[in-house]
Amino acid sequence: MPLSRRTHWLRRHFDFRPRKSLGQNFLVDDLPAEQIVQAAEQFSPQRIVEVGAGLGALTIPLAARPREIIAFETDRQLCAILDWLLGDVERVQIHQTDFLKADLTKLGGPDSIVVGNLPYYITSPILEKVFQIRPRFAAMVITVQQEVGQRLQAKPGTKQYGSLTIFCRYYAAKIETLATLPPRAFWPPPQVTSQVLHMTLRGAAPEGVASENAFFTAVRSAFGYRRKTLRNSLKTSPRLDLPIEQIDAALAEAGIDGSRRGEMLDFDEFVALGNAVYHLSEAAQ
Ligand code: SAM
Repeated sequence: MPLSRRTHWLRRHFDFRPRKSLGQNFLVDDLPAEQIVQAAEQFSPQRIVEVGAGLGALTIPLAARPREIIAFETDRQLCAILDWLLGDVERVQIHQTDFLKADLTKLGGPDSIVVGNLPYYITSPILEKVFQIRPRFAAMVITVQQEVGQRLQAKPGTKQYGSLTIFCRYYAAKIETLATLPPRAFWPPPQVTSQVLHMTLRGAAPEGVASENAFFTAVRSAFGYRRKTLRNSLKTSPRLDLPIEQIDAALAEAGIDGSRRGEMLDFDEFVALGNAVYHLSEAAQ
């Protein structure tokens, strides 16, 4: 049965009303659902963790292969519907749990991926949570709002480029857009265009990073004051709290001209800057 017909049948049968506050926009277009499932299959995952299973638009096709599916859904009525749809499939576990509070330890690893048409109101915390699980997930195939997708893939010097871009580059070796979805791909239609992203996550920290902590301190300090030069941003940053001589020394070690703006630095330059900050803090101890 086409996704759209199944969704509306379920809605009527269970007298279900979508809750805007939970980001409930259900995928009703079969093509992106197939693209997401195919992208997930590329990894031949043994385990798929799904964020916000909803009415099972992805859970049902993903469950067609023999592997473990751990689906999180916070809405009680949706969990009852999912249980009605998939309750007899043993390898599918539906958890009525807020994903942000879920215990994901033991779920990550090179055979595990995360899939989901994300509830947009918590996109960043979901990314943060998934990125920080050890062992790391191999990949994510997710739908986000287009504006976020553009920020994640932005180039230096553009309006969308910011600490979120660098944060994702730190954890994802590769980010690709699989599809752009108009609001009508969902029911009810959201007010924004969406993007399906495919992220290959790194198995370890990016090469050359001496300290994750110093790296993110440098990134947040550089983007803290977008109108200032990099030197002034670093000087004003409460996160760094370094005298100007040390800031100049760090910029010199990293080989970066402090009169540039932070938003012009590429990823490798942030690595060099973070390392220089780290070496200074090590030398001070
Ligand atoms: N996967 C379904 C689909 O593609 O049609 C639903 C996607 S809908 C955009 C997002 C889903 O996330 C909703 O079902 C919503 O109830 C659920 N959700 C919202 N907040 C959540 C949270 N904190 N934890 C788990 N699920 C959540």
